Amino acid sequence: MTEPLTFASKEQLNIIEVFSSVQGETSFAGLPTTFIRLAACNLRCAWCDTSYSFGRGDARLISQILEQVEAFGCQNVCVTGGEPLLQKNVHILMSSLCDKNYTVSLETGGSLPIDRVDPRVHIILDVKCPDSQMSDRNFWPNLSEIRPQDEVKFVVNGYQDYLYAKEVCEKFQLFSRKIPVLLSPVFDVLEAKELVGWILQDKLPVRLNMQLHKFIWSSTTRGV
Ligand code: SF4
Repeated sequence: MTEPLTFASKEQLNIIEVFSSVQGETSFAGLPTTFIRLAACNLRCAWCDTSYSFGRGDARLISQILEQVEAFGCQNVCVTGGEPLLQKNVHILMSSLCDKNYTVSLETGGSLPIDRVDPRVHIILDVKCPDSQMSDRNFWPNLSEIRPQDEVKFVVNGYQDYLYAKEVCEKFQLFSRKIPVLLSPVFDVLEAKELVGWILQDKLPVRLNMQLHKFIWSSTTRGV
């Protein structure tokens, strides 16, 4: 098992940015949300759009982060990265947010165990497809842990990735277990209508995930 890395001290987390926007993805898409982007990632997906999160960021007290979240005033809070689960203090942050009655989601790249995540958190679990060059890093026991209140996301670069996603859904019985599945086309690579065609042809009970923020702003705008 990969041990979580610790960057900051007991009361701190290494942070890239905290900002409010509308959620661009998942079943929370369109809802005002405060994003907490944690520093560092253990993966290097070929199509990564947040490589600016690979650095060490700034060490901030968890109490300061909670104050910032309160100032933004959004009910929904998304903990993202990078890979948030690299920093073990993220569990303190997420439980503190839940205690304050925020609706908390966690976006994780799927290479680290999710078994320590507070059960009140909605987990958005990536499964890396072959074209990401990271599919050998998927931590498969997570697919058995995942619950119907969570979501499993595949970023699809082409038909090979689509078939891979379909096979993983079948192997782990995600549809019969009522696990919501998101298929997201790689922006500016795979046309959404092509992906929709495959989904409809196979009658897959999945949600098309379109990264709204890249249409509202541009694909390279940060902090939105
Ligand atoms: S897991 Fe996310 S942040 Fe890390 S390399 Fe992949 S897309 Fe980028």
